Amino acid sequence: MFFGKRNPLEKEEEQLVSTEIYSCSDDGCIGWMRKNFVSADLLCPMCGSSMDSGVRDLPKI
Ligand SMILES: [Zn+2]
Repeated sequence: MFFGKRNPLEKEEEQLVSTEIYSCSDDGCIGWMRKNFVSADLLCPMCGSSMDSGVRDLPKI
């Protein structure tokens, strides 16, 4: 039995980067997208409302 060794990947910390995003303008909706991935019409993918630009700390991609 070898429980002492841990997978080194588990220790890797997630690197967060301030990322420009668009979030849904509807307070009741949690929809948002990375700025790189927004649709051309800038509408929320979940409810179709308009989206506001903002910044979030997200894992680096
Ligand atoms: Zn929405």
